[in-house]
Amino acid sequence: MEAVLEKPATGTAYSAIVQKQRDYFWTHATKPAAFRKKQLNKLKAAFAKHESSLLAALKADLNKPAQEAFTTEIGITVAEIEHYLRHLDDWMEPERVSTPLFFQPGTSMIMPEPYGVTLIIAPWNYPVKNLFGPLLGAIAAGNTAVVKPSEISPNCSKAIADLIKDTFDPEYIVSIEGGVPETTELLKERFDYLLFTGGTEIGRIVYQAAAKHLTPVTLELGGKSPCIVDTNINMDVAAKRLVWGKFQNAGQTCIAPDYIYVNNKIKDKFLGRVKHYIGEFFGDADKPSDDLGRIISDRHFQRVSKMLTGDILVGGVTDASQRYIAPTIIDNVTNDHPAMQEEIFGPVMPVLGYDSFDEVINHINAGERPLAMYLFSNDSKLKKRLMNETSSGAICVNETMVHAGQPNLPFGGVGNSGIGAYNGKLGFDTFSHQKPVMVRSFLGDVAQKYPPYTSGKLSFIKMASKFLLR
Ligand code: NAD
Repeated sequence: MEAVLEKPATGTAYSAIVQKQRDYFWTHATKPAAFRKKQLNKLKAAFAKHESSLLAALKADLNKPAQEAFTTEIGITVAEIEHYLRHLDDWMEPERVSTPLFFQPGTSMIMPEPYGVTLIIAPWNYPVKNLFGPLLGAIAAGNTAVVKPSEISPNCSKAIADLIKDTFDPEYIVSIEGGVPETTELLKERFDYLLFTGGTEIGRIVYQAAAKHLTPVTLELGGKSPCIVDTNINMDVAAKRLVWGKFQNAGQTCIAPDYIYVNNKIKDKFLGRVKHYIGEFFGDADKPSDDLGRIISDRHFQRVSKMLTGDILVGGVTDASQRYIAPTIIDNVTNDHPAMQEEIFGPVMPVLGYDSFDEVINHINAGERPLAMYLFSNDSKLKKRLMNETSSGAICVNETMVHAGQPNLPFGGVGNSGIGAYNGKLGFDTFSHQKPVMVRSFLGDVAQKYPPYTSGKLSFIKMASKFLLR
């Protein structure tokens, strides 16, 4: 059977793929640590072999500069493979937990067990990282996987499918290319775990399809991630980090700072520094920079271009022929501005001013829970307030986006920004069922637990539950 289906497959063909993987899973071949490590090493070698075609595809689909592509797609994934290889033995080890007296003699442990056949559906914005990041978890946890790259980034979809086909047998890992019709068919199959990355609305569709089979899910979704800028900061470092995070991949990042909330006392000065670094990093707005990504499709180009209205401080320039939108700051924005109606997912930075931190907290809590929240401040009280009084997938203080590259932190959303998380150990845990295992001895058989029940037996059980179950 072909690892990559170039033509839309029928439901039956998908059923055959899934069945083949299920049969393979039940041979138990994917479970030993040595097998898992071998696959991770194969993937690492495949990244070296296919690096130039992945870079070319990222350039063709998104004009991703080589440094960005390495930092946020290829290098970060290879570093994560190393992290998995270093820790896998530890993570696979069952966790011994204490066994209360009532169950003695006996032992108890939590044993991570692979789910089986997994499905990973990836988006177009970080087509490599958002497909292989979850796949590392699936491999490390001992599963098989069907992966579905996004059709919206067709060059990346093909490069990923080629890499998978070149590296793995389809009964173990297979890539299925295609768009909505193919994904809809695929979602009719029964998977043992599903990880979806994409928009919240499609997330709902995927969740409903999974529910039909009671398939457990991780949903990595999006939302509007605010960036709050307090007075007490190093303005140059904050402005540089903000411009770097906001305009990576032309703003098409799920955790991009979406809109900026700046203390009115420093707003004009701070925006001056932001403007300065936009110029320093990307040059003149009329000359599309090679270091800036392009908008993925005409549809998204039109969608983001409609947001370019109001008090445009910098940018506002577009070139439809190359789907270029210049890095743009829009000042004095209110909640009814087009850029405040949905996740921007483009190089547009709306700015709101605030006088009191209460305003900021109330504004954030009135909306859906963001995937990320950023704060530039040296005030520990404000940091604590943001952590305790709001809810978001993550908080990153005095930086933007880098928390996603910290392998010891989970990555995921909450509420409308997602369900569950992955990254490093959490990737392994996400794709593992945590199976409780209790082993008793034939000794210590408590006679009082058996019928016929008596008041004496009940008194014993009441006493035991008080003192012997701790
Ligand atoms: P999308 O939801 O349009 O597409 C994601 C995947 O779903 C693609 O593979 C696509 O083929 C498939 N799909 C699309 N329509 C479908 C349908 N009707 N039925 C079944 N499958 C369908 O997302 P996108 O435009 O590729 O990515 C942008 C969104 O993803 C943004 O909202 C962004 O915030 C979010 N995102 C989240 C994360 C995260 O880790 N939380 C990472 C990247 C992107």
